[in-house]
Amino acid sequence: MRDGELPSNEDDLPHDVRPCPVCGGAAHERIFAQRFAAVSGASLHAGYDVVVCSRCGAGFADRIPAQPAFDAYYRDMSKYEYHQRDGAESEYDRKRMEVIAAVVAPYIPSPDSRILDIGCASGSLLHLLRQRGFVSVTGMDPSPGCAQTARRLYDLRVVTATLDDLPTIGERFDFAILVGVLEHVRELSSALAAVRSALSPRGRIYVEVPDVLTFTDWSNAPFQDFSTEHINFFSPTSLANLMRVNGFVPVFSEQNARHQSFGTVMSNIS
Ligand SMILES: [Zn+2]
Repeated sequence: MRDGELPSNEDDLPHDVRPCPVCGGAAHERIFAQRFAAVSGASLHAGYDVVVCSRCGAGFADRIPAQPAFDAYYRDMSKYEYHQRDGAESEYDRKRMEVIAAVVAPYIPSPDSRILDIGCASGSLLHLLRQRGFVSVTGMDPSPGCAQTARRLYDLRVVTATLDDLPTIGERFDFAILVGVLEHVRELSSALAAVRSALSPRGRIYVEVPDVLTFTDWSNAPFQDFSTEHINFFSPTSLANLMRVNGFVPVFSEQNARHQSFGTVMSNIS
C-alpha cells in the first residue's frame, strides 16, 4: 500500500455496510480507515471506516457491529459511573453540567414538566435541574451501575434501559434530554422514534453532540472524537437534517465550546 492510500474495502472489518443514519442513503465516500488495538475482554470493535454520505453529506462510522454489541458494551463496560471518584463526576464535568442546566432550563415549559435525561450517567444534570425548581426528573441509562450511583448520590429515580426499551417503560415525558448520546447510537431514526413515542404531544427534546466542524480546532479532538464509542460525526446541518426527517421542529440551535477535563475542549452543537 502506498502512503496515504486506504486499505481495500475487503480488508479486516467483518461487518456490513451501514446506510446513512441520517437520510438512509446507501452511497458514501470513504475518507479514513480508523483502526484500534484490541483490549482483552473490552473491545467493542476493531475499528471502522469514516465515511461521508453522498446524498446528504452526513459523516458516520461504517462497517460497525450490530446494535446488540453496542447494547452489551454500554451495559457491561460503561465508564460513566466514575468508580474512581466514588461516583462523583470531575470538577470539569460538574461545571459543564451547570452550563448545560442553564442552557436547557429556559426551554422546559414549566416547573412540573416531566423531564427525562437519556444517558444520564451519575445523574448530576437532573440533580442541578431539580435544584432549579424542576420537581419531576427521571433518568435513564443502559448501565445498572449508573442507576445505583444516581440513587445513592442524588436520590434520583433512574430506569435501566436502552433507547429501544423506551416505548416499553410506559411513561410519557414533556422534555427529553440527550447530551452526548446520539453520537453513540447506531440506529438514529429508530432511537428518535422511541424518544418521540415517550413524549407528550407538545413534548420537547434537547440534543447535544460533538461538532465535527471543529474537530481540527483542538489538539485532542481527532483522538477523542474518532473513538471506539463515537460512530456519528454531526455538523449543524446533519443534526438539523436528522431532526427534521424524524419529525422534530427546531426551537433553537447553537454551536459552543466548553472546557473539560485534562485541559481539553469539547465543541458541541445543541
Ligand atoms: Zn445521508
